[in-house]
Amino acid sequence: MTPSPPAFDWEAFLDRLAAFYHTGDWRVPYLRDHAEDPFQVLIGTILSQRTRDENTDRASQLLFAKYPDAARLARATRAQIEPLIHSTGFYHTKARVIHQCARLILDRFDGVVPHDLEQLTSLPGVGPKTANCVLVFGYGIPGMPVDTHVHRISNRLGVVRTRTPEQTETALRQSVPERYWIPVNPLMVQHGQNLCRPNRPRCPECPVIDLCATGIALRVGRPPPRKEDARRPARRKPAPTRTPASKTGARKPRR
Ligand code: SF4
Repeated sequence: MTPSPPAFDWEAFLDRLAAFYHTGDWRVPYLRDHAEDPFQVLIGTILSQRTRDENTDRASQLLFAKYPDAARLARATRAQIEPLIHSTGFYHTKARVIHQCARLILDRFDGVVPHDLEQLTSLPGVGPKTANCVLVFGYGIPGMPVDTHVHRISNRLGVVRTRTPEQTETALRQSVPERYWIPVNPLMVQHGQNLCRPNRPRCPECPVIDLCATGIALRVGRPPPRKEDARRPARRKPAPTRTPASKTGARKPRR
């Protein structure tokens, strides 16, 4: 009988990433620096969709300076909200969605953001990732927010074989012991923004290379779990074309 492979060492993985990113001038995920208030985590995560962290940062600072909670945002008009969040793109849609969210939180939940996945995902613009972000960053409750970084890195590590972030969330909930759920997202997102980037991950510098199916495979020349991570062989330089001596003016050597 073939012995089953050892379980992935989540403790070592998370400890090493935490130690590695503890020092140095690395990018820090937006939510890790803004995880204080569940309402602001919720609205900030909606604003962060399809934009860069610095745009989310600018917009949320402007927005929360005027409308820091559901009651005040619900009383604003969309015309007042739109210029504040303009930098995030899709600002008409985002203004409509966050305004509706604020009103529903006020009407249905007495102005308090719920901490229940089903209630959270009943709000407009709130999918599983955003709802899990509210649990983890807003309330410190174990959740599994899966964005593109978490999805990609989990597949690179070889701990899941999934096609969508939703499938990855389900698989990680089974694979990761619950006591480690809270640090999974912030550390993987930071890793994805720095070393384990979408294209050409910087595996030789990675502190978890010995735990990672992709890092190990690339090191020993085996195909990695994700086809798109297979390094393309370096192109051979084309052989230099010889120019006939008659055109260069070079003389034939005398015999
Ligand atoms: S070894 Fe490479 S692919 Fe694996 S986690 Fe590190 S950077 Fe990502």
